[in-house]
Amino acid sequence: MEFVEQLLYRNTTWACDAARSDPAVFERMGRGQQPAALWIGCADSRVPAELVTGAAPGELFVHRNIANLCLPDDENALSVLEYAVRALEVRDIIVCGHYGCGGVRAALTGACAALPHVDRRIRALRELARREHAALAAIPHFEDRVNRLAELNALEQARTIETLPIVREAVTRPRVHAWVFDVRNGRILRLARPQAGSMKPAAGMRSCDEGRGTSTSARLI
Ligand SMILES: [Zn+2]
Repeated sequence: MEFVEQLLYRNTTWACDAARSDPAVFERMGRGQQPAALWIGCADSRVPAELVTGAAPGELFVHRNIANLCLPDDENALSVLEYAVRALEVRDIIVCGHYGCGGVRAALTGACAALPHVDRRIRALRELARREHAALAAIPHFEDRVNRLAELNALEQARTIETLPIVREAVTRPRVHAWVFDVRNGRILRLARPQAGSMKPAAGMRSCDEGRGTSTSARLI
């Protein structure tokens, strides 16, 4: 069976199972949505938002793109953010990066002529890598540098989102979170939020200098 045919078959199985375990589920879904959180994640196939968080349909409003970016000139991301905050009134916004991110890795390597759209897309990441060059250069292994930049990027996007008028001027201002997903063990790490423009970990969170061997400045939730 072709893969796409398998997907349709699996969908039928899923719909039957869902209706069996919760007979009212599709009647509820038909009435509309009221998600509690907006998820901004990478398009990477290994990081499906609902699957890795155990969220049910209707619980997460999701936007995914290369390297989980939310840039002030990105109408696609901003329209999702606007709808989530102003129409759906989500309580939380989660920016979730991930280790082993191809978009982040590309930002640490040369320009890629074969992928011009991707190349333009990750300009902001290259700029972030340039600003954080000293800290990144101190990390000996390339993949650890990639993972550290994935963390810094999630924090940067969260910080940007907090400054946008959509969020800043919201009647009920949503909380903004920066997370990173570890593709090597399936766990999500909550990143320390920057305080007053610094990159210091928040109180109670593990510093990136502790427990060397990982590039993370996060703690397990
Ligand atoms: Zn990625």
